[in-house]
Amino acid sequence: MLNGYFRRAMLHLKNLIAGELRDAVGGRRIDVYEPARGRVFALAPDSDEQDVDLAVKAAQAASAQWVAMGREGRAKVLIRLAETIERDLDQFARMESRDNGKPVELARTVDIPRAVSNFRFFATAAIHFSSEAHMMDDVAVNYTDRQPIGVVGAISPWNLPLYLFTWKIAPALAAGNCVVAKPSEVTPCTAHLLAERCAEAGMPPGVLNIVHGLGAKVGATITAHPGIPAISFTGGTRTGAEIARVAAPMFKKLSLELGGKNPVLIFDDCDFEATLSTTVRSSFRNQGQICLCGSRILIQRGLYTRFRDAFVERVRALRVGDPQDAASDMGAVVSEAHMEKVLAHIRLAQEEGGKVLCGGERVRLAGELAEGWYIAPTVIEGLGPACQTNQEEIFGPVVTLQPFDDEEEALALANDSAYGLASVVWTNDVKRAHRVARALRTGIVWVNCWMVRDLRTPFGGMKQSGVGREGGEEALRFFTEAKNVCIRL
Ligand code: NDP
Repeated sequence: MLNGYFRRAMLHLKNLIAGELRDAVGGRRIDVYEPARGRVFALAPDSDEQDVDLAVKAAQAASAQWVAMGREGRAKVLIRLAETIERDLDQFARMESRDNGKPVELARTVDIPRAVSNFRFFATAAIHFSSEAHMMDDVAVNYTDRQPIGVVGAISPWNLPLYLFTWKIAPALAAGNCVVAKPSEVTPCTAHLLAERCAEAGMPPGVLNIVHGLGAKVGATITAHPGIPAISFTGGTRTGAEIARVAAPMFKKLSLELGGKNPVLIFDDCDFEATLSTTVRSSFRNQGQICLCGSRILIQRGLYTRFRDAFVERVRALRVGDPQDAASDMGAVVSEAHMEKVLAHIRLAQEEGGKVLCGGERVRLAGELAEGWYIAPTVIEGLGPACQTNQEEIFGPVVTLQPFDDEEEALALANDSAYGLASVVWTNDVKRAHRVARALRTGIVWVNCWMVRDLRTPFGGMKQSGVGREGGEEALRFFTEAKNVCIRL
């Protein structure tokens, strides 16, 4: 328990409602932890139904003005917002690293630049967004009028906090909607920094409302609120199912980006060095806490031993350290509960007969970092496709290795999953690349690369990895209502 002096000295986050930075109506706060040290460093509003309701009313009141500003007027505001984040990139990156435990270099080179790009990309994408016309010979012309929905909800997870928060907010706003958004309560800090900059960017009050708090309270209220007819959610599959259960009978528009158990298929004709170095990244970047990380590595038998030995050697050389130190390859996992969950998965893998080739345990760093939540990057072999380890999402620095004999077996292993988010294929045979890409049941297939992202492309998963697609025009379509207007000629 922290004493009063330390609580006052901490960072106090606020909600953004109707353009004002406010505490929760009920006055309660949630502790926000710094994973690197395992201790509280900030306090966030513990909001409830009253705060969400105020945010919805503010968004409804701002809607006409935001629509009237037109695409170009809105684009100017969003671009100014991008510029303020870019100007303060270092502050944002340090905060993201402190709040999430990720290496500051990752935040500086990926998370925060991507948040900047999200605003820039959708500001201009909305200007270029056009709709279709369908001519019926001499009978009539149909055109599609895509109008903003009004008020939309955005709920995002903790793994890429500002990156995924803005991935939803930017297209929603650019399309002319006002937004009620909830960042993960586990990592709320950069959303607060964003809130502080909205007025400076010229955003009218009420256009973007950020309500901090618990999923079970704030997230559930956004989901059930009759004033929010569309929700974009990224998070776990179980939470997505709960949101769908509540929102479906209300006929809300839903975009659900959920969990994954992504396969990496390595054929023996691959470029070995590129495969090796990228697979180390695709396994352990952000401590394996990216929904796109490969967690099941499938290797053609002829290459298995060579790849395994070289991979384990590289993984052992990864430096787990202070996230604020530019030399650290990996930082801390996001919370103590998550660390315990990942360690339990490793124990389960051993009970299932898996052999831990490296890692497998908590890492205790020295001094101030001794209570931080660090896990050694872990590689496991010897498990078949049906076990829990190869079926359940772990979402941490843990991968398994499995051999396969031919393409058919590789595809059977890869597709043997309830999830279908992303996959990676390593081969120099272009015909095989096309064949395998077509046969994989995932929303995204990377061939000879990983995490190469073009924001115009459809992004999302099949099966239990989600419903709907984000990115480019898909997002602008989601955040608008299509109306067909038919005029007799
Ligand atoms: P959760 O599903 O636990 O939480 C996501 C968000 O939903 C949080 O803001 C959470 O709030 C909120 N929430 C929790 N319960 C409810 C509820 N009943 N109603 C409405 N909102 C609720 O996911 P995590 O934050 O743990 O994120 C990790 C998961 O996200 C992984 O499964 C990962 O695969 C997935 N993910 C998917 C991506 C994709 O693009 N497909 C990208 C990134 C992550 P609170 O934090 O307070 O619990």
